[in-house]
Amino acid sequence: MPLYYGFYGIDLGYYLVALVALVIGAIAQAYIRSTYKKWSKVPANVPGTGADVARRMLAEGGAGEVGITRVGGSLTDHYDPRDNRLHLSDDNYRGASVASVAVACHEAGHAIQAAEGFGLYRLRSALVPAVNIAQQGWVLVLVLGVMLNAFNLVQLAILLFAVSVVFQLVTLPVEIDASRRAVAYLSQNGAGLDEQGARKVLTAAALTYVAAALTSIIQLLYLLGRYGGRGDE
Ligand SMILES: [Zn+2]
Repeated sequence: MPLYYGFYGIDLGYYLVALVALVIGAIAQAYIRSTYKKWSKVPANVPGTGADVARRMLAEGGAGEVGITRVGGSLTDHYDPRDNRLHLSDDNYRGASVASVAVACHEAGHAIQAAEGFGLYRLRSALVPAVNIAQQGWVLVLVLGVMLNAFNLVQLAILLFAVSVVFQLVTLPVEIDASRRAVAYLSQNGAGLDEQGARKVLTAAALTYVAAALTSIIQLLYLLGRYGGRGDE
């Protein structure tokens, strides 16, 4: 029995779950930012900027045709398969710190996954369109289901949410693999400090994905507990 009904019949418990999720996410974000900042002050031994090192790693990894471009913001780095380019934030594109080369090589790792046809990477890419629909639609479907007291819609909402949880679970090994490739490249081409720092920065980055997956699982369990067993349409 919910203690309090909030917006459109979604009870206070949901807001508490959302709050816990926000706090876990904020802690993970603070950790990556502080780890990144620390290793941004340590010059890498591997020669060149993040863009230079990524370019060499791409060439060695059989993805030499992948472009590299700059993108605004901080820690906005990503590989976009649509234009087949690494988009590196200014700091990492131009920077020659351990943090910059670590992030740039992690993104190069994703491009190499794509070039190789790495299975989990392909599965993750295949899920993207469904996930976009699911992430945009699940709350609306849930609210409609609760308002109309339509159990089928509530079940559909939970299913849509579960799609994004599966996506996040598939994302984790893809991220860890890209980081593993970056650390391996830097340990072969740089000094011990490069490898050590890259491991720290990329582990902190991976924790943001773990936090996101964990909070989604908590949300899913909450939704299942709150709405999952109620067939009284
Ligand atoms: Zn990544």
